[in-house]
Amino acid sequence: MSPSGPIQVSRSQGLSIRWPDGHVSSYGPQYLRDHCPCAACVSRPAPAAASPFVMLQPALKIAAAEPAGVYALHLEFSDGHNSGFYTFEHLRTICPCAECAARR
Ligand SMILES: [Zn+2]
Ligand SMILES: [Zn+2]
Repeated sequence: MSPSGPIQVSRSQGLSIRWPDGHVSSYGPQYLRDHCPCAACVSRPAPAAASPFVMLQPALKIAAAEPAGVYALHLEFSDGHNSGFYTFEHLRTICPCAECAARR
């Protein structure tokens, strides 16, 4: 499934995609980073158990977004990570809205 219409990209708010069935998916930069499909991220071990300390980081932003063929998006993040190619199929699968989360 490919988006219907332009994909809205905001460096601080992330992506907003409208699908042919009328559904709209919105993804924050950190959410996209957490769901990066690249080999390094997919094989990354699960985060360690919650620590009492939280290292505060500057809010992650999208540094660049560009089409990769007709079926995917290439995203670069403000932390320098840029090996993620997000197929639209993947993006639709990870839609963070309550409706889609309930279906997963
Ligand atoms: Zn990655
Ligand atoms: Zn959804």
